[in-house]
Amino acid sequence: MTVVFVKIMISVLKYCRKFSILIPLLLLMGNAATKTNYASNISMRKKVCIIPIGTIDKEILHNTQKELEDRFNVKIDIGRQLEDPAYAYHKQKKQYHSTKILKRIHKLGLTGYDRILGIADVDLYVPERTFVFGEAVIKKKVAVISLTRLRQKFYDLPEDFTLFKKRIIIEAVHELGHTYGLRHCTNNKCVMFLSSNVSDTDQKGAVLCSNCKTIMEDKRTMTN
Ligand SMILES: [Zn+2]
Ligand SMILES: [Zn+2]
Repeated sequence: MTVVFVKIMISVLKYCRKFSILIPLLLLMGNAATKTNYASNISMRKKVCIIPIGTIDKEILHNTQKELEDRFNVKIDIGRQLEDPAYAYHKQKKQYHSTKILKRIHKLGLTGYDRILGIADVDLYVPERTFVFGEAVIKKKVAVISLTRLRQKFYDLPEDFTLFKKRIIIEAVHELGHTYGLRHCTNNKCVMFLSSNVSDTDQKGAVLCSNCKTIMEDKRTMTN
């Protein structure tokens, strides 16, 4: 009985040696198949395009791209830079009408993207408010944020690049949150709280409260 077992074992080992090259090859193929599958999942995932409105610092663009990809778990591209938004300028206010910028972005008719986020380095306003950090059109899934009032320099304070980048992410998450159907939240620690000034932005941070998180998850399940 033992002799038979040993003979079987020897033949199994010989068989394995014969195919010793094949085994890693099969493992590699398995790995490649997984990667292909993963890639096709990525291409199926909803995509966001960041559009620079005029010249925007490259580091800001890439940092925002990376942070939003991590937070929303979506693929984000940086699109072609648009011209300076002179068409949205209001001479008396010396500000730019954000709704006009949103219309310009929407008119691009970008295909292959589920939502678009414009980043502008000019001070934005809407007729109802003296200024806005950003604006979004929920139905069109288009949003824009302004960098101007996120800089310490705007408030005559020493520049703080880390704080500046942090504020950009908060405002970008807020406006992108609108494109997912989220409305303003009354929780002043939630990113969907409406900032009336930059202190509001600083105290709320870039995270959704549990209520908004649930709404977002429900909406994403419905649209995915
Ligand atoms: Zn808002
Ligand atoms: Zn909330």
